[in-house]
Amino acid sequence: MKGLLIKGGTVVTETEEKIADILIADGRIKTIGENSAAAADLSDTTVIDAAGKIVIPGGVDVHTHLCLDVGFTTASDDFYTGTVAAACGGTTTIVDHPGFGPANCALDHQIKKYHGLAEGKAVIDYSFHGVLQHVDDDVLRSMAALADEGITSYKAYLTYDYKLSDGDVFRVLEQAKKHDLIITVHPENDGVIALLRSRFKQEGKLTPHWHPRSRPVECEAEAVNRMLLLAKMAGDSPLYIVHLSNALGLEFIKSARNRGQQNIYAETCPQYLLLDDSLYDGTEEDGLNTGLRYIMCPPLRTRSDQSSLWEGLQKDIQTIATDHCPFFFKTQKSRGKDDFTQCPSGAPGIEERIPLMFSEGVMKKRISLRRFTDLCAANPAKIFGMYPQKGVIKEGSDADMVIMDPHKKWTLGQDILHSNVDYSAYEGMELIGYPEYTISRGDIVAHNGEFTGTAGRGKFITRKTGVY
Ligand code: MN
Repeated sequence: MKGLLIKGGTVVTETEEKIADILIADGRIKTIGENSAAAADLSDTTVIDAAGKIVIPGGVDVHTHLCLDVGFTTASDDFYTGTVAAACGGTTTIVDHPGFGPANCALDHQIKKYHGLAEGKAVIDYSFHGVLQHVDDDVLRSMAALADEGITSYKAYLTYDYKLSDGDVFRVLEQAKKHDLIITVHPENDGVIALLRSRFKQEGKLTPHWHPRSRPVECEAEAVNRMLLLAKMAGDSPLYIVHLSNALGLEFIKSARNRGQQNIYAETCPQYLLLDDSLYDGTEEDGLNTGLRYIMCPPLRTRSDQSSLWEGLQKDIQTIATDHCPFFFKTQKSRGKDDFTQCPSGAPGIEERIPLMFSEGVMKKRISLRRFTDLCAANPAKIFGMYPQKGVIKEGSDADMVIMDPHKKWTLGQDILHSNVDYSAYEGMELIGYPEYTISRGDIVAHNGEFTGTAGRGKFITRKTGVY
């Protein structure tokens, strides 16, 4: 038996935290228990002593943008560098949000393209959300057909070039409800943003300082509320709000739930919990305003929004993902040097998520260890049709896990991270707790910050319909 035995760690299972041995065989968790190895033949088994360590499910990041083509440039991580970074940071599964394809392309166009981008490159397991660019009968039919190929969630944008009208959003919500799919949405009020951006341009307000002011909280919250009500009208159609950044949007989500609306899920990201809009005032570095590093949509908000989101993590917010979308500061973000509207939107974060949330959340006692694993692994796996294969430490599940050293103190910095990019949004942050080993289907893919896996070992996950 070729296997792996993780001995004596504190294991976070679905029901408890207990000191146990985990025996892994053929990429799956075979047994969890005291001396579970006693009966096994260990001649071909690697043993890791995890005494004093915490064993958590491998991170599931359901919001990444690898290879994202934004027209004038492309996000700097591909499916190799991005998943290497993920693995080194304790993430073992991603669900990527593909960019837009050519106008009027079929729904499977981007899915096919992304299969090509990931194959032979990804080092951990992966899937894709579908991206909705227009809505017609073909698209609606394809939504149902692609579910058989494991694509069971779709992204709708309410802003950018391929924003959907309310009527079209309503049609896809109805179709999702009918076929047990889930619609994810980037909610921002396009009209107001377009107007504010053009007004700021005319007024010469072109520094990063004006970026959050061109996309106020109300633009996001209005669109969140609109989506909630459209989903309600579509029969409580499953709706997943991506990258929630603010307190007002969260209030609308709570209020919809309080009125009895079902099937509503919300995601936030570490940047909205840990960084705030003062960063847009920046300083000058290499002739560039450092505020450009934080140009993302929605923008960073206030400290008061951060506190509301932390509170929301207890119950109202279901997942923490990254929206990982890296661009080099010196050569790509620099496009916004004289005009923030020209800066590619997005920031890296795939490798930082698990350490940040462990240190800032669990170690600072803002969330329990259990809630941390739910937010970062189990819930995203359940919402997006990957449970119990992914997201939990359970007999029979894929052996995806992370051995955290809860005592190690270290400093986040791009010099030790693996993304193909020249900065971390969290540069210099002091953390407690380190992902010492990352294990994907029984393979040690990262150990103490070194990637130890192989390109192309990651497999496409055929996701199921329905939310667990
Ligand atoms: Mn995104």
